[in-house]
Amino acid sequence: MINLLDLDAADLAAFFAGLGEKPFRAKQVSHWVHQRLVDDVGAMTDVSKALRGRLAAAAQIRGPAVVSDTTAADGTRKWLLDVGGGNAVETVYIPEDDRGTLCISSQAGCALDCAFCSTGRQGFNRNLTTAEIVGQLWHANRALLADGVSANGRPERELLPPGGKARSAKGAPMTAPWIEQGRAPITNVVMMGMGEPLANYDRVRAALGVFLDDDAYGLSRRRVTLSTSGLVPALDRLRDDCPVALAVSLHAGNDALRDRLVPINRKYPLAALLAACVRYLDRAPRDFVTFEYVMLDGVNDAPAQAHELAALVRDIPCKFNLIPWNPFPGAGFRTSPRARILAFQSVLMDAGFVTTIRKTRGEDIDAACGQLAGRVQDRTRRAIRMRPVPAAPSVH
Ligand code: SF4
Repeated sequence: MINLLDLDAADLAAFFAGLGEKPFRAKQVSHWVHQRLVDDVGAMTDVSKALRGRLAAAAQIRGPAVVSDTTAADGTRKWLLDVGGGNAVETVYIPEDDRGTLCISSQAGCALDCAFCSTGRQGFNRNLTTAEIVGQLWHANRALLADGVSANGRPERELLPPGGKARSAKGAPMTAPWIEQGRAPITNVVMMGMGEPLANYDRVRAALGVFLDDDAYGLSRRRVTLSTSGLVPALDRLRDDCPVALAVSLHAGNDALRDRLVPINRKYPLAALLAACVRYLDRAPRDFVTFEYVMLDGVNDAPAQAHELAALVRDIPCKFNLIPWNPFPGAGFRTSPRARILAFQSVLMDAGFVTTIRKTRGEDIDAACGQLAGRVQDRTRRAIRMRPVPAAPSVH
């Protein structure tokens, strides 16, 4: 059985061509799956009964199985989703006044082993399929709509659970899909959950296509951000195939320190990574790169290191996002004190860089940045190797 969540527009067109159907069927079915968010081929009422029968025999809409669903005091909501084989990944919804952001996972675990990262500590099992990536957005929109949550996080009473008939506030049936009406709760996607998205290139690329497709979720490229630790060849491919907003996990201003914090730096050092960022900006929907920088007490948070960082990227249009590190058991790091983060920020601001400090969200449900661990059947044996955890490295 084909899972329709696994198909991007080209795959869907090929699928219907294979059934001997006209190309418009692909768009019609895409609207049902991604905009009306149905989970049953039989619900596609403007598709002929005969075709629905053939579809039901060949395809299904199989969303993720939810292991747990937790909401934090600040409204951040985390779903743990079963992806089989004893693995589960996390998806996090972050409501804000003017947007609803979904942080999506791309792998069960991660092989890149960044020193400060909870996901990396779990080891790696496998890449997620396109259906498992797209299914996170599909599921979050359905679950939030079912709870009457709209794009700005406020209740929309007239919306009924997906699969049911939507009605306006006055009770009149609404025929247009929710997403076409601009009512989807998820307005922004960040590929910043578990895993390195560019290490799962083909499936992530297909999923991005679905997120952007006007016949599916119709998100603008500016509202979809991919965050990478710096796989340079794949970043160049993304630039050519599907440029979306870019965030790069930098975390250090020199190769010696970055080699320790982000080991992929040994393969693609800073000079190569920053050159790829400049190339990417030629095609990017935003005219800057966001550099993420996790603040580790006594490791990478000294004012001198901020000066070094500013000098390193002085020719690159960029913004900084400083991330107070979120502790997890046995990590071997400490969070930078607030005063140190502010001092680091002011050096970068004085050097002319827009620099924000990420507000920690969902801390009480371990949904904050770098805290996603999911459940990973580690095939790298790292989870075993990493215990007991060594003391944090220090540059001082
Ligand atoms: S920070 Fe990202 S790339 Fe590094 S180990 Fe964690 S998930 Fe993987």
